[in-house]
Amino acid sequence: MAIIPDTKDWTWILDRVCPECGFDADSLTPQDVARRLDTALPRWDAALGRDDVLERPDPSTWSPLEYACHVRDLFEVFRHRLELMLVEDGARFGNWDQDATAVEKEYANADPAIVRGELAEQGALTRDAFAVVPEDAYGRRGLRSNGSEFTVLTLSRYFLHDVEHHLHDVRA
Ligand SMILES: [Zn+2]
Repeated sequence: MAIIPDTKDWTWILDRVCPECGFDADSLTPQDVARRLDTALPRWDAALGRDDVLERPDPSTWSPLEYACHVRDLFEVFRHRLELMLVEDGARFGNWDQDATAVEKEYANADPAIVRGELAEQGALTRDAFAVVPEDAYGRRGLRSNGSEFTVLTLSRYFLHDVEHHLHDVRA
């Protein structure tokens, strides 16, 4: 069985506590995001060192390795989106099809040791990018290709939930 594409729109996470992972977006700032990444990154690193890193819990669910590849790419995509918004208020984001990317980049066949290094590197760069966002930039806007609008503040919260929710997915 193939991985079922995730077509859910997760923007509700900005208004409600996540019933699965307990994430509460309320009042989080980009600096809080940077601090929480300091906690999340070692947990991702540990997950990539586990014996079951290649095992899908069931045929339609990603293995810890595949989730880690996704999070590595998530760091890069959201850092880029943040940079776009800081350069241009009202920036438009390119479309990112995460399930197509997983197939194209062969997440399932990646080398966990290499992904470990890449995730740490991308994570640190993204952490540093959120850490230095000035307060007067929190309201800058960015538009997804589906039309939904983010501010720097809501983008930060949405992004952090993805990183932490997937830790919950891999029980790390
Ligand atoms: Zn969640």
